[in-house]
This record gives sequence, structure tokens and C-alpha cells, in this order.
Amino acid sequence: MPFSQFGLAPFFSKSLSHFNYAEPTPIQSAAIPAILKGQDVLGIAKTGSGKTAAFVLPILQQLEVAQISQHRDPTVLVLVPTRELADQVTQVFREFLPSLTSGVSCLAVYGGVSINTQMQALRRVDVLVATPGRLLDLIEKNAVRLANIQTLVLDEADKMLNLGFQEEVDQLLRLLPVKRQNLLFSATLSEDVSAMQRLILKDPLVLQIDEVGESPQQIHQEGYFVTEERKGVLLRYLIKHEQLQQVLVFVSSHKKADNVTAKLVKNKINACAIHSKMGQNVRRDALKKFKDGRVTVLVSTDLLARGIDIDCLSYVINYELPRSPKDYIHRIGRTGRAGASGEAISLITPAEEHHFGVIQKKMGQRVAMVQSDGLDLRGY
Ligand code: ADP
Ligand code: MG
Repeated sequence: MPFSQFGLAPFFSKSLSHFNYAEPTPIQSAAIPAILKGQDVLGIAKTGSGKTAAFVLPILQQLEVAQISQHRDPTVLVLVPTRELADQVTQVFREFLPSLTSGVSCLAVYGGVSINTQMQALRRVDVLVATPGRLLDLIEKNAVRLANIQTLVLDEADKMLNLGFQEEVDQLLRLLPVKRQNLLFSATLSEDVSAMQRLILKDPLVLQIDEVGESPQQIHQEGYFVTEERKGVLLRYLIKHEQLQQVLVFVSSHKKADNVTAKLVKNKINACAIHSKMGQNVRRDALKKFKDGRVTVLVSTDLLARGIDIDCLSYVINYELPRSPKDYIHRIGRTGRAGASGEAISLITPAEEHHFGVIQKKMGQRVAMVQSDGLDLRGY
């Protein structure tokens, strides 16, 4: 059924067909009418199922219809966990702006780049996409006020309400008008569900399209039993033997990301690292090169585990497992997006076997295991 059946205005039709959005995804067809009605929504749907457009489209329609883009202060606030996701969500808003006539503007603000530039740009913004820390800094400098926010979105909502962000997000919530629309989206739920309820007070519509923490069926998962010493060479074998062209490798620390990358480069594999200890321009450059296909392997910490959408990415390798089973779901969800197929490979040492068992149990899915002993890794 077309988007218009779900209340989406005809002015989006050209952009929708330009981006090959023939039909809404299930979360979009459920969330769009509810958001347009002004309801609070908690949307749970798998990674890669189009949750961004599920809030971007109705929010832009509300702004266009109300013609409220002349505000000095933003009316929509989207909070996200990483700078990279802030850029990406802003990009999705901007892709649909040409459909509007009301001159809506969208801006991403986050740390690691000049605050002065952001302060200038904040002079007239309708949709503000932000990481919490920098937003608080900007508020302190009187560069922005949240008094006019009518819609709040928490993308990767469970992460935003988790310990790491809780304090900052609470601080921001206190600055928002009480009367507002709250939209929460994620593929996984916070264990602390009461945190979500505390936030969504107004009779939320819970749209649970998929089981919480379910991985998309089109992601083929596999694990390799390997010793710690052979992990590096097994990674190179998988990349070279399979002639992989675009692989996202996850590790558990920035040091490991640098080490694994250095080893790959030494072995003539075109690799780059990305993690939070790098400068923002270097981070941005690494992701861009990877997306453009100029880099074959991107080695990341959990920085890229949440929300990042890389077109046609078909391989994710867990060089090390994430601590949280939820992060495993998010990591492998960087592949198999928008109905495409994907491979997720995890390298499991004897020390990690038990934890991998826990992850599979939480996920409710068994992962096929392969012994790597028999593989001839000489020459890799
Ligand atoms: P999620 O937030 O659920 O993980 P995203 O919003 O990042 O997923 O969307 C994943 C991919 O699906 C993006 O590349 C997006 O362009 C694409 N997409 C979203 N909605 C549709 C649609 N209705 N039809 C086709 N592709 C879509
Ligand atoms: Mg998302």
C-alpha cells in the first residue's frame, strides 16, 4: 500500500520515488499515522527497518502544515548517541526538505568540532539533531533554548536512557516544555522500562513490530572457533580468501582498533580505524572513505554499532564480542538492512565461548559454529 494510505501528504511523492521508497515499511505504516495525530510513540522494530523515516516524514509534514518554521528556537529535538548518527539523521531530514515549501531547516550539533560555528548556525533552526553533551554546552552559552520544543525524538532510545546518557538526558528533559510529543525508537528495549515510562507519560502508543532484540532474518550468522593467536591471521584469511570488498570489523577498545588496523595495513589490506579517541575530522573522513568504497575494512569500536546505515554493507565481523548482548544485535544489524542480505561472522576464542552462548540465548537464536583449526592460514 502506498504511503498516502497512511496519511502522508502528496508533496513527498517525488522524493519518495527518488529514494526508491515504493511502500512504507511496517514500522513506517504503523508510526506515521500515529505521529501525525500527535500521539506519543514507542516504536520497536528491527535494525534496518526504516525507523528514521518513520519519524522524519510525519515530523516534516507537521512542520509544513503548521508553517511554523519562522521560530527563532527549534521546535523539534532529536537526541542521538553519536556524532556520526547525528550527521546521518540530519541527512535524512535534509533529503526530504526539498518536498516542503515552508523553508524548514535542520542542523546537527555535537562535540569534537568548533562550538562557535554551531552557535552561528543555531540562529534559526527548526529541527535540531544533537548529542546530549554538546547540546547542554550550547544551552549554557545561551546559543539555543528548548522552550519551544514540540516534538522530542530519542533515536536508539534504550541507549539514550541508559546510565551513560541518563544524567544528561534528564537535565535536557527538565528544560523541555511539559506539553510535547515524545517519540522513542529502537530495535532493543532498555532493561529499565520504567525509565521509558517516566518519559512517555501521555498514554504512549507502543508499536512493537518485531520481538525485542530480534535480528533480521536475512542476516546469516556464523561463528569461528579460533585461538587468540590465530585471530589476526583468520581475519586476513576471511578478507583475502573471500575477496571481501567492504567489511566492518568490531573490536572492544580503541587500542585494539588501532592495533588490528595496523596489522591489516601491514599485510596490504586497505583498512582504517574509527573510534572516539580520534579527532572528529579523521573520524568523519574514515567513515566517508569506507562508505565510498575507498577503504575495504573499517575497524570500529561500538561507536558505529548503533544506527549507522551503510549502503549495501554485506559483511560485519566481530573480532571481539561486545559486552552487552544488545550491542551484538546492533552491530550485526549494520548489515542486512532494508531487506538486503548480509553476513555476520564472530571470531570466538575459548575464553569467549561462554559469553557467546549468553548472547545467543538472549537473542533466542543459535549461531552455526565452524572450527578454524583445519583452515590453512599460511601465507595470509
Ligand atoms: P533503522 O533506523 O530501522 O535501523 P534506517 O532508518 O536507518 O533503519 O533505514 C535503513 C535503510 O532503509 C536506509 O538505507 C533507508 O534509506 C532505507 N529505507 C527506509 N525506508 C524505506 C522504504 N520505505 N523503502 C525502501 N527503503 C527504505
Ligand atoms: Mg535507526
